[in-house]
Amino acid sequence: MSLPPKGTARSLKRKVLHPLLAFGLGVAGLAVLAIDQKSERQLLDKLRQRAELIANSVNYAAESIRQQGELQRIVTAIGAEDEVRLIIVVGGQPARVLATTKQQWLNTPLADLPAEMVRDDLEKAIRTRRPHHGLHAATHEFDLTTPLLLSQPELTEGILSSGAVMVHLDTRPTEREIRTSVIQFSTASLVALAFLTLLGYSILNVQVLKPLSAIGHLVETHRSGDSSRWTEAASNDEIGSLARTLNEALTRADSARRDLENQKFALDQHAIVAITDRQGRITYANDRFCAISKYSREELLGQDHRMVNSGHHPSDFFREMWTTIARGSVWHGEIRNRAKDGSFYWVDGSIIPLLGDDGKPHQYITIRTAITERKRTEAALVKAHVEMKSSEHRLRMILESEPECVKQVAADGTLLAMNPAGLCLIEADQLDQAIGRCIYDLVAPEHRAMFRELNEAIFRGESKTAEFEIIGLKGTRRWMQTHACPLRDLEGAIISQLAVTSDITGRKAAEQALLLAKDAAEAGNRAKSEFLATMSHEIRTPMNGVLGFTELLLDSELSAEQRDHLITIQNSAESLMTIINDILDFSKIEAGKLVIEQVPFDVRRAINEAVGLLTTRAGEKKLTLEIAADSAAPERFVSDPHRLRQVVLNLTGNAIKFTPDGGSVTVKFEIVEKFAGEARRDASRVLRIAITDSGIGIPKDKQALLFQKFSQADSSTTRHFGGTGLGLAISKRLVELMGGEIGLESEEGKGSTFWFTLPLTLDQGTSALPLASPALNRTGNSGIIQTKSVPPGLRILAAEDMLANQLLLTKLLSKLGCESDLARNGKEAVELYQQKHYDLILMDCHMPELDGFEATQEIRRIEQSSGRTARRTPIVALTASSIDDEKEKFSNSGMDDHLTKPCSPAQLTALLAKWCSAEDARLAP
Ligand code: ADP
Repeated sequence: MSLPPKGTARSLKRKVLHPLLAFGLGVAGLAVLAIDQKSERQLLDKLRQRAELIANSVNYAAESIRQQGELQRIVTAIGAEDEVRLIIVVGGQPARVLATTKQQWLNTPLADLPAEMVRDDLEKAIRTRRPHHGLHAATHEFDLTTPLLLSQPELTEGILSSGAVMVHLDTRPTEREIRTSVIQFSTASLVALAFLTLLGYSILNVQVLKPLSAIGHLVETHRSGDSSRWTEAASNDEIGSLARTLNEALTRADSARRDLENQKFALDQHAIVAITDRQGRITYANDRFCAISKYSREELLGQDHRMVNSGHHPSDFFREMWTTIARGSVWHGEIRNRAKDGSFYWVDGSIIPLLGDDGKPHQYITIRTAITERKRTEAALVKAHVEMKSSEHRLRMILESEPECVKQVAADGTLLAMNPAGLCLIEADQLDQAIGRCIYDLVAPEHRAMFRELNEAIFRGESKTAEFEIIGLKGTRRWMQTHACPLRDLEGAIISQLAVTSDITGRKAAEQALLLAKDAAEAGNRAKSEFLATMSHEIRTPMNGVLGFTELLLDSELSAEQRDHLITIQNSAESLMTIINDILDFSKIEAGKLVIEQVPFDVRRAINEAVGLLTTRAGEKKLTLEIAADSAAPERFVSDPHRLRQVVLNLTGNAIKFTPDGGSVTVKFEIVEKFAGEARRDASRVLRIAITDSGIGIPKDKQALLFQKFSQADSSTTRHFGGTGLGLAISKRLVELMGGEIGLESEEGKGSTFWFTLPLTLDQGTSALPLASPALNRTGNSGIIQTKSVPPGLRILAAEDMLANQLLLTKLLSKLGCESDLARNGKEAVELYQQKHYDLILMDCHMPELDGFEATQEIRRIEQSSGRTARRTPIVALTASSIDDEKEKFSNSGMDDHLTKPCSPAQLTALLAKWCSAEDARLAP
């Protein structure tokens, strides 16, 4: 803070003090002059008064004036001895000196008086009868000549009727006296004046100059920027009020200045500010201006705004701008500028002209804000808007031409929007027939609740598909399928349901037709199954005869040629049976009729049984047929033993068929990992059964096709080996139904390995193995299967209505050393049972009078009532059909087992051995 220059206060003091002193001196001078004049007049007056006093005293004493020493007495009485130089009284006719202080002149006639001046004056007084006086400064003399005025003229007897008195005074004593008093007065006056002047000055100084100086100092201080000080002048006068007013004014000015500074600061922070002079030259540029224009302040100052002109705006733009501001109006606008580095920036600015005293702009303040980002966003928005418009248009076009119904539905079901396809569906001719309508009204009454629920679900945020029927405005019912989802706004709130709905009336009709067709097909399938069952029965029954009698014939005496022919007949019949069985199986699988069981059984025994059936055939071809079992493989296993046997039989049968004489066939079963190389996990372990032969093998390109139905590797081999091409297809289906996989590895000319796996489901319990037959023995890990013998002398009842079968059964049974009785129907069977005890009953199912099931039920009933349960007679069903449904029927009616016709002697032997072996007989209940 700089102090204000002292000179200001001093000069003000000087300005006041000097005139004051001059005034004092002037007054003193004038006073001296006045005193001087006054003292002269005083002197004259005083002298005249003294002289008149003397003269008057003389007059009063006129009667006695002529007396000696009278004059002296008067002078003494007055006390004017020092002054009086001469008193002369003249009177009488002719006038003579009546009395005088100058004794020599006494009685001297006036005319003779030597002193001319005295004589003249006296004569003048007598003559004019008027007094007159004169002061003679050079001689310090004063003379007064006055006519003699007699108060009692009678007293003087006329002597003194006229005359004059002259008094001559020495002026010096009076002069001295007056001078002394003047000096005293003047001194006192000057002292007083000096005192008053000083007093006046000091009052002025204290009351005015000092406060004024303080105010001046304060103003200076504030002007220099220190707004922290204030005048303390609190006097209750004009100066005090001036100080207070000034304080207020300064406070206001200060706060205004601070406000202004803050505003400027704020403006500078926010805006790009520049000030230009009248010619447009930049005189101020704030930091933001420098920053955005990338010019330094030095580069900008003195230049005009053309240096940031980007050339974007036409010259009219700037002309209009200049016209506006030159008029004194504020200009607003957006300008694209160019920075020093050539980049462009947009600003939104105002140019404010500041008007001078002449009313014309003398400065322009430019306040701008950077809007480059906004401009960019605007441009993007415009682009987006254009794109949106066009995509909206596209969307509209798509919706208009969309063949499906697209609609928008509010939460309460009000239809908000719909495309032309939709209008068509609801049979509305115009949009206003549809919009605002409650969509629920259009839905068929029975589907309304469901549709309402769907809409509510959509407004909960779910997406749904539904099928329902609508009734159009013209009453047509149509089936619709709708895919609906919530339509959300930008904040994610669900505003409506958006649905695409298609007319599925055609499809629904087709579906209904299809359902009918399916029913019909199923009925057809059932009929086919029935037909196949019947056909199977019908073919198997005569085949039973053919095969049975062929076997019987082969046992008799024959020529070599006859035996050859018979063997051919037997092979052909067996082939025919295989084909019939395969076709039956396959059609059952195709019809989904095949039921897979899940029962516990001994897997080794099941494989032994299957392989055992093929030993004869293997023996005929002199093949080595072996079973190789993994010792770790479990004995008890849960699956379908019957189907497992069927697959093993199929694959092993093929292996034997396609292996030339003297070769080998091995059936191996083991527990393996499902996926090789993977970590060992129990869940992935499977039972794997592999049938390896040293046969003809299968070419690589044929392998993939083998599991398809009616597929054979080579038709020429088939001609040689026979077959239908169904075996592998059936095996594959069966394995898959059991949850396993099937495959092969084969090399042409070297042999094949057909394998299949089954999920490893181990039996934890110890229940009986229902279908495991004791007829076949396991002979270690490998070996030839042997059959058990039938105890001799068994008594068998055979119930069979067909003559050929009756004959065949009788022959076979007698060959096995059994005694047999024949019943031609169920009724006869029951009668015979009641008469005799039988070790086993063979019961044909389909018989006249009483069928096999009814007869069995009757027998069991009799058994119960007669207390013969201690020795329950095994009843074995003879059936030509292999429909699985009948199995249940067998057990339900009380049958113990079944034998499919045509039965071979081996099968019959196995059956009898199973139910009637010595041990079993003992163990039987
Ligand atoms: P098929 O009744 O003809 O034997 P399959 O489905 O059982 O019908 O077999 C289909 C074809 O697969 C056979 O015709 C044969 O060409 C080939 N095939 C099956 N098993 C073997 C095998 N062990 N060795 C060589 N070829 C085989």
